[in-house]
Amino acid sequence: MNGSRDRSDSDRRQFLKLAGGLAVASLASVVLPGRAAAQAQSVDPKDPLAVSLGYACDGAKAPGYVEGQFCKGCQLYSGAADAKNGPCALFQGKLVCSEGWCKSWVKRSA
Ligand code: SF4
Repeated sequence: MNGSRDRSDSDRRQFLKLAGGLAVASLASVVLPGRAAAQAQSVDPKDPLAVSLGYACDGAKAPGYVEGQFCKGCQLYSGAADAKNGPCALFQGKLVCSEGWCKSWVKRSA
């Protein structure tokens, strides 16, 4: 009889551990994406894609730059308007400078 009760208690403890672990995992999946975004690295201007697109963090100094075509005004940029950098659809998982520029600049629609 005690063996059955011990097993039942053990099963209950196992269940509670599993439920607690799932709750922590669920919470982490909600919290960590924002944290991961905050830790995203800037695009390396020497990155082959960056080189091929002529990307520069200081867009105004990039060869081919056209007045006013900063990343922050590009359709592919999704950073906050007042942020120093933000995500670009072309550089997955990396951040571009808000005043950067590349050859793929596309005017942001209103
Ligand atoms: Fe900047 Fe747009 Fe080029 Fe991305 S595609 S690097 S946002 S100019």
